[in-house]
Amino acid sequence: MLTVDCGTLIDGITDEPRYDARVVIEDGRIAAVGPRDEVEAVGEQVEHDVVIPGLVDAHVHLAGVRSMDPMDWAREDVATMTARATADLRRLLAAGFTSVRDVGSATGLGLRTAVSEGVIPGPRIYTSGRAFSQTGGHGDSHFLPYEWSRSRAGLSEIVDGPDECRKGARRRIRDGVDCIKIMATGGVLSEKDAPDQSQYTAAEIRAFAEEAHRVGIPVAAHAQGAPGMKNALRNGVDTIEHGFYVDDEAIDLLLETDATFVPTLAIMHRIVAEGADHGMPEWGLRKAREAQRAHLDSTRRVHEAGVPVALGTDFIGPDLVPHGENALEAELLVSAVGLSEMEAIRAATSVAARTVPGDEVGAIEAGRYGDLVALGSDPLDDVAALRDVEAVYKGGEAVR
Ligand SMILES: [Zn+2]
Repeated sequence: MLTVDCGTLIDGITDEPRYDARVVIEDGRIAAVGPRDEVEAVGEQVEHDVVIPGLVDAHVHLAGVRSMDPMDWAREDVATMTARATADLRRLLAAGFTSVRDVGSATGLGLRTAVSEGVIPGPRIYTSGRAFSQTGGHGDSHFLPYEWSRSRAGLSEIVDGPDECRKGARRRIRDGVDCIKIMATGGVLSEKDAPDQSQYTAAEIRAFAEEAHRVGIPVAAHAQGAPGMKNALRNGVDTIEHGFYVDDEAIDLLLETDATFVPTLAIMHRIVAEGADHGMPEWGLRKAREAQRAHLDSTRRVHEAGVPVALGTDFIGPDLVPHGENALEAELLVSAVGLSEMEAIRAATSVAARTVPGDEVGAIEAGRYGDLVALGSDPLDDVAALRDVEAVYKGGEAVR
């Protein structure tokens, strides 16, 4: 049992902060939230100036890579990647990220097991396991012979045709994933396709979505061009990742389907600003530069239309996009898109939590997990305060 007294409490849902508030955590979950003089203190008692919900990154890869060249990713073995990703989990937790959604890795499922057993420290992991890509799609390794690409245990697995897609989804469900991830367009870090090229047919996407929804888990689609986004949304996809080139029809579909938009500005920002110094292949740099302005315009339009925009960095591990600096996304949502500080905090908490099953994380509300972060300064004055982490509680346990 833990009682946390808060000078300022931002609960992740409501518009206004509360002052002189109290949060009581019992058996790992929030038992009560309210004014300090109305909620009875139990157990150990601590006090912090500013308290927010544990942060949620809705788009990471627990891939344990340390290079920006996909050729290196194909060469390394899963044990090396798992060991590095284990270190990344510690950094995420220390940065106040108590939940992450891993949308494509060979290691996410095993790491989820180890964290939930308490063997290693880390955020709550919601994972798709390996993503799905069509042949020649964003998750195919275009530079390898096809047989190698098809057999390697990378971030993605290649499946084609509605029957293989359905069977792939069933295999992931058998593994116990929290969501299904598909590549619905080309991308930046795939050599021989382009962000505006659609991938997977309507029937293939429907097959993934039918299987996922049958067991109550969502489908996330990497989708950068408008035709690919619309194909995804019309056929059951729940979250659009990246979304570089929206059009009016795509925005209408996002609203109609109650989808969540996860723009991943942070990786694009870092690639364009510094990618050349970090071994990014030239074709990837070119595609990122070409898309950046449209990407920011799209995110602005989507936000202004009232679509929920979630914090997701697409960070994957190398120095250019390292775990632990994930709050950069909130800063970009404010400075480059125009969200208010409070909106950016919601993007980093309750909105990001929309992308995972259950209402268990992302807010300081009775019934949810007792995941809290204490900050050294007020993020409503400057959202960069999200990096000024003083203490982190996961399930009511101090983990930093
Ligand atoms: Zn990604």
